[in-house]
Amino acid sequence: MKSTAKRACALYILVGLFFVGAVTLFIMLCVNSSKWAMQRTNEHIYTNGTLVTAGAVLDRNSKVLVETKNGERIYNQSSAIRKATLHILGDTSGFISTGVQNVYSDELVGYSFLNGVYLLEKYQGGNNVKLTIDADVCATALNVLGSNKGAVCAYNYKTGEIICMVSAPTYDPQSVPKDIMTNTEKYEGVYLNRVFSGVFTPGSTFKIVTAISAIENISNINQQKFNCNGKTTIGDGTVICNGTHGELSFKDALAHSCNCAFSEIAVQLGNEKLQTTANQLGFNKALKMNKTVVAKSTFNVSSASTLDLGWAGIGQYTTLVNPYHMMTILGAIANGGTYVKPYLVDGIETQLGIDIPTIKTKDGDNYMSENTANTIKDMLRYNVTSYYGDSKFPNLQMCGKTGTAELDNEKSHAWFVGFSENENCPYAIVVCVQNGGSGYDVAIPVANKVMQSIYKSVSKE
Ligand SMILES: [Zn+2]
Repeated sequence: MKSTAKRACALYILVGLFFVGAVTLFIMLCVNSSKWAMQRTNEHIYTNGTLVTAGAVLDRNSKVLVETKNGERIYNQSSAIRKATLHILGDTSGFISTGVQNVYSDELVGYSFLNGVYLLEKYQGGNNVKLTIDADVCATALNVLGSNKGAVCAYNYKTGEIICMVSAPTYDPQSVPKDIMTNTEKYEGVYLNRVFSGVFTPGSTFKIVTAISAIENISNINQQKFNCNGKTTIGDGTVICNGTHGELSFKDALAHSCNCAFSEIAVQLGNEKLQTTANQLGFNKALKMNKTVVAKSTFNVSSASTLDLGWAGIGQYTTLVNPYHMMTILGAIANGGTYVKPYLVDGIETQLGIDIPTIKTKDGDNYMSENTANTIKDMLRYNVTSYYGDSKFPNLQMCGKTGTAELDNEKSHAWFVGFSENENCPYAIVVCVQNGGSGYDVAIPVANKVMQSIYKSVSKE
């Protein structure tokens, strides 16, 4: 009897182990099947680790940006478009990790848990992915950046559609330059999409954050007068201004980008309040755009001296800003305090013409009250009407702020961030020209040419 019980017990253990094994296998299959099928050694999909068999990627006007023909990945016939859309599409080897061909490889290959890559083999194509971008607008943006490095991104602040996203340096994916690995100066960070993965000293564009904090925390800020004689004593040091502005109101201080006034405002606010506003506006937090994790903007004045706080208030401390994040701040100002989440994929269609639902727009975070948003919006509009001039942005009723971010031993970064109040062109834009020089001289013309191109593009729709 005893040995029968022992044998039964052993049997139970075996059966138990079998079930544990089966369940573990099933879970692993669920979790990892896509990864296993999509490995770069899977020759149904990749040749020598390079993506070959997948659906096409199209722009908002159904222009084919990349597709598979006779077992080869072929990009758009225009080299200007190929270079301008490289960072959005990504390369076929997966170096540009945030590119659509990498992030949406399951969808492009047509992989599904039930069918595996069966459909891919049957139809030789996978799914087509349609984007929200206009490839011609992207080509314009890259063209106006010229030989500069930098980032340009624009999106519809009412719907969330990203219409333009360009990162430079770039290269032609159809004929990869031979010196891409050796010419480190020319191709510095070429595999990074600077819109998603870059962070830069913000310079005076950060005065928008300081101004928002002042609107929310200093009740008489609009009655205050500031006096600029070209420099001001802050703590145990001196902050130098870009000019000698004389007596200024709060809004004129922003329009003239007065360093004296804004470093004094930062000190009035104190470390804690300015830090709270920055955190509320999404600093020190990694944003996500669908599946793409965006580099964090960082702001930390917890241990800053009074002088450092003054510099922080004008965007010249240790602060670093990501262009995509900055665009969401402008989107929130344009949209009553809460930004609409930007998105890049408009739709996915199978080879049988069936639409696969995609996650589109959802409300992003609430950055500020509607009141604050409207107040800062009026100030950004005043910057253009009173100082930059509407003639810099014909027909656009532009609101915005420039930045000339000073760097140690390097030419300044030229910034412009803003949005159009023209109802027919509800787009926000961020331009950062790395080591470009003056925001006013360099970034404004770039922003205007891209915005005019967007206006033309959406007027046709
Ligand atoms: Zn000044």
